[in-house]
Amino acid sequence: METLSDKLNHYLDAGFPILYLETFEEAKADKLIEEAARNQNFSVIECNARGVFFKATAEKTKNDLPTALNNFIEPPPMAGDKFDLNRKILVIKDATKKLETTDAASKLKYLAELILSGKLNAGIIIVAPVVALPKEIEHLITLLSMDYPTEKEISALIKTFCVMEEIKMPRPNLFQRLVDAFKGMPEFEIRNVLSLAVARDGTIGEEDLSLIHEQKKQIVQKSGVLEMIEVEKDFFADTGGLGNLKRCLERKQKIFQNMTAAEKFGVDKPKGILIAGLPGCGKSLSVKAAASLFKIPLIQLDMGRLMGKYVGESEANLRRAIKQADANAPCILWLDEMEKAFAGVGGQGVNAELTTRLMGTFLTWMQEKKSLTFVIATLNTIKNIPPEFLRRGRFDEIFYVDLPDEYEREEILRIHISRRRPQDLSRINLQKIARRTEGFSGADLEGAVKDAVEETFNQGLNSLTDEALIDAINQTHPLSETMADEIKDMREDYAKRSFKNAS
Ligand code: ATP
Repeated sequence: METLSDKLNHYLDAGFPILYLETFEEAKADKLIEEAARNQNFSVIECNARGVFFKATAEKTKNDLPTALNNFIEPPPMAGDKFDLNRKILVIKDATKKLETTDAASKLKYLAELILSGKLNAGIIIVAPVVALPKEIEHLITLLSMDYPTEKEISALIKTFCVMEEIKMPRPNLFQRLVDAFKGMPEFEIRNVLSLAVARDGTIGEEDLSLIHEQKKQIVQKSGVLEMIEVEKDFFADTGGLGNLKRCLERKQKIFQNMTAAEKFGVDKPKGILIAGLPGCGKSLSVKAAASLFKIPLIQLDMGRLMGKYVGESEANLRRAIKQADANAPCILWLDEMEKAFAGVGGQGVNAELTTRLMGTFLTWMQEKKSLTFVIATLNTIKNIPPEFLRRGRFDEIFYVDLPDEYEREEILRIHISRRRPQDLSRINLQKIARRTEGFSGADLEGAVKDAVEETFNQGLNSLTDEALIDAINQTHPLSETMADEIKDMREDYAKRSFKNAS
């Protein structure tokens, strides 16, 4: 795999005029840039909020960015070759605001065009924690983001830390769990957590896994579009019906568990599944069921929040999310309400162009991904979903969830009654109740059980009865009633597309 350092070298070699390195790890960025400069035989000049630093001569000036750029374009008399950018890398930091509010962007454009035309042999690297690209130079910029440490690098980090701090190396089993838990965290965060762990009790132990977990949750959250979902109980056992979908998940889990042997045998890495269908019928529940079954982290991508206000921000958000998911692999990446982000593809206008680009980024990743990231996309309606998503080869399977049949309703009722009143279950005629709930979704059934239990308590009765459940059912307006037209349309649509029924 091409590392960030390789990429920096290749882009500089090929004369890409402006590289935009999205990171808040400036020290790590500095190291990479110095390494690239050495390889190119270039020296480094850095412009930041405090001025201009000529690294080769250790000289400093207090110029701000627009003034410094002016000097590089038209060196002041008597300045010698100090401001000659030939064979130099110009690193720009702390510039997000400056690029927006001054004419620095147009000056950068001028320098970038000199590089592009071959008149200037230099590189420009903008280092910033967020992606905010000024419109006039957007086409000259190549976006790069920092790699997360690999498994090997994390191992080395922990080992070095233990040696430096003179603490006992964690035993092999714990060591591997620590490495897995640290996946998807930047280097400095790993060091911080290790220091915190040692500060607490002088060792790195089992109890520190939750510390790492907490920290990681925050990091994922800070991305603004991702969230780590806790899957604290056995959602797989708590999902009634949906036999086809559950069997598919079991097959995939077997592969996940034996990935090395499976790949040797010629089995492809599982890509993911798409689940479309009626609200309240268990789509979100199935995602959590998958995470319980696979026993891997569940990361939710908020499709509605992908869209950013700056040029390139939405794609950067998506790329960052993908990178974070890849770094956390093996994990499940849940694209909830996928239609929210991709419905506009193929239309007209700036937004349509953006969603088309987002779709491109996403599909390319799906196609090429090497990591064990299992994608589960859920959506209520497939009406506006671009056909590219539904083409074979994108997802391993596409399911639709319909209203549960009688047998499934019985299972769902059993689950929700035993969660609340396990002691009453044997006295309830589940079959009879299931027969009376035609057209109910899983959520409707849960709602009726909840109401019946509440009413039984309010009446001062000791146990839940068939009658209480039937009363609650009679007062429920099920999905088949409230969404009759939508259900009819959806069923026709799914039948036409020959999606696999999840049941
Ligand atoms: P939406 O599209 O509105 O998000 P959804 O299909 O994702 O709906 P869920 O959130 O999975 O629906 O279901 C809502 C609740 O209904 C679940 O938390 C669960 O308690 C209950 N439920 C739905 N389907 C089932 C099922 N098959 N088995 C058990 N419970 C179910």
